[in-house]
Amino acid sequence: MSQDIYVFIEHVCGKTLDISYMMLAQAQQLAAASGGEVVAILLGHNVAGLASDLGADTVWYVDHPELEDFIWANSLAVLEALLARQSPRLVLFGDTTIGSGLASGLSARLGLPLVGYCRQVFPNGGHFHYISQICGGKMLVEGALPDSTALIAMIPGAFRIEQGKSDEKHSATPVPLDGLDEILARNAQKYIFKGYTEPAAGDVDITREKILVSVGRGIQSEDNLSLAQDLADALEGAVSGSRPIIDQSWLPTSRLVGKSGKTVKPKVYLALGISGAPEHTEAITGADAIIAVNTDPSAPIFNLAKYGVQLDLLDLLPVLTDRVRAEK
Ligand SMILES: Cc1cc2nc3c(=O)[nH]c(=O)nc-3n(C[C@H](O)[C@H](O)[C@H](O)COP(=O)(O)OP(=O)(O)OC[C@H]3O[C@@H](n4cnc5c(N)ncnc54)[C@H](O)[C@@H]3O)c2cc1C
Repeated sequence: MSQDIYVFIEHVCGKTLDISYMMLAQAQQLAAASGGEVVAILLGHNVAGLASDLGADTVWYVDHPELEDFIWANSLAVLEALLARQSPRLVLFGDTTIGSGLASGLSARLGLPLVGYCRQVFPNGGHFHYISQICGGKMLVEGALPDSTALIAMIPGAFRIEQGKSDEKHSATPVPLDGLDEILARNAQKYIFKGYTEPAAGDVDITREKILVSVGRGIQSEDNLSLAQDLADALEGAVSGSRPIIDQSWLPTSRLVGKSGKTVKPKVYLALGISGAPEHTEAITGADAIIAVNTDPSAPIFNLAKYGVQLDLLDLLPVLTDRVRAEK
């Protein structure tokens, strides 16, 4: 087994996803402790250029027309073949729809241990320890990883995107894999990629808004949404929401922030009565500042927020809106 730390690079429509840079930043820290290298694993077709800004010592690239669009079974087959001949110390995935699916598939196929919802991995007395967020983010557990190859699915938050980027302009190293054509040809009979479906654009594109007033279950009733809308109007921003709000049709799907909705990067993300479940927070780490308002001081959103206040949002909203209007 080598001491290398592998990172699976996620990309969609020719763009590397932010989570991959965060994983690379974590991998750099771990490789410095293990004495190994950071190896980025890039799968796709005609995307070798994506290697250039990855903060890795080496970028292994598997190119095949069948890898042009993400099909779980294809990526899984390639990773399985790679790990059958290499035994790194750790393989890092984003705990995203793509990454968690691949990590769990590999764990089942190869019998490798997997830590999901992982917030951090760190060296401790010659071993690696992990901190994982369980029960929707309400509890943290710490444990020691085995000294054999392990798989990690990480949620964002501990590292910034820039930390995983490099100015060195890496080139991709092609990795030939025996039998790849046959495996992918077999899969092509079972899986057909039909196209990407973007969430409906709706009236407002929340991915472009500078200020988002985002409401969660803590808003309590549809009638109270007008309080959030008043503040958004005063701040010249838009209202977005967590899954329970959209599931109850209090806001349209186009306003959903999270794993099943949109990833947002506003200057200010005001999280009102949002607990901070991983499926929500993975989509807000690109915000310049997250401000959390929650009655529960142990709500996980406070771990990610730049500013936080333990307060009833229904008391705060009218007062805050008046203050903003007065300032203007
Ligand atoms: C496959 C999958 C995909 C998912 N995709 C998404 C997604 O895209 N987006 C998403 O958001 N979720 C998603 N979820 C759901 C996610 O796991 C959480 O259940 C959801 O984010 C919780 O929403 P919430 O924070 O609004 O509600 P809760 O977790 O119920 O939190 C409500 C919070 O409000 C606080 N509160 C209550 N009253 C007040 C008050 N008066 N003032 C201030 N604070 C108050 C509470 O303390 C609590 O922290 C997904 C789940 C799965 C399994």
